Amino acid sequence: MTTPRRLVGRIALVTGGSNGQGAAHTRRLAQEGAIVYFSDIDTSAGAALEATLRAENLDVHFRKHDVSDFQAWQDILAEIDTEHGRLDILVNNAGIADIYTAEDATEESWQRIVDINQKSIFLSFKAAVPLLRKSKSASVINTSSIFGLVGADGYIAYVASKGAVTLMTKSTAITYGREGIRVNSIHPGYIATPMLEEELADLGDGAEERILATIPLGRFSSAEEISGAVAFLASDDASYITGAELLIDGGHLAGR
Ligand code: NAD
Repeated sequence: MTTPRRLVGRIALVTGGSNGQGAAHTRRLAQEGAIVYFSDIDTSAGAALEATLRAENLDVHFRKHDVSDFQAWQDILAEIDTEHGRLDILVNNAGIADIYTAEDATEESWQRIVDINQKSIFLSFKAAVPLLRKSKSASVINTSSIFGLVGADGYIAYVASKGAVTLMTKSTAITYGREGIRVNSIHPGYIATPMLEEELADLGDGAEERILATIPLGRFSSAEEISGAVAFLASDDASYITGAELLIDGGHLAGR
């Protein structure tokens, strides 16, 4: 399949871009012609990915950035402002998970997930809206989850944070729609990334087979299959889509 070139010259920022889905989104947006800043706390994987993608002639720039830190948001956006004077695409992808029930979670484990998955979305808008306003085609894509739409057995902090992402997406779509800033959420199901590997290990023997049995397409998604949806939402092909939930789950939630 030939990759389209819908994002030529667009300025993008992808958070959590060193690994998993964020790395795939970074590559895809750059392949479609965007200048992509990607950020993460994992600096060694970020630097390695930057070198790999530059060797493919892609215009990518890795920066260290903890999404739960407002100053870090201000720093990276100040640099993008100086270099480009606007931000066209923001992919809020960074996230973490644990499988704890309310009894097993601690206040610290709860707070860590909420800070990284949920507070980061608030901070991103607080810091990025002035730059998004300077774009002629601003698109924000927030990574929620199937567990931002339905409950899960355990995962108490994760569902709280991802449910919040779903509704913060809708509220910001309303607030900024008249300024032409589109905001949508994506809801991946089970995606083959380091996060899923860790989750399957935590869930123990037989978990992979049990989960696969609940997915009509009968397989996990690759990270790249999520990136196609992200590139679509970032592009003018999605020019009338805002406040929407895009489910990318191989049919997992179809019968629930
Ligand atoms: P991953 O663990 O492979 O990658 C997440 C990346 O986020 C890593 O590079 C990590 O270093 C980075 N990160 C963690 N904390 C950070 C912080 N404070 N600041 C900046 N970066 C930070 O996971 P993934 O599967 O690629 O997950 C990407 C997003 O998709 C997450 O928001 C996750 O919740 C969501 N998601 C994943 C799945 C799945 O099955 N893998 C399903 C639904 C939703």
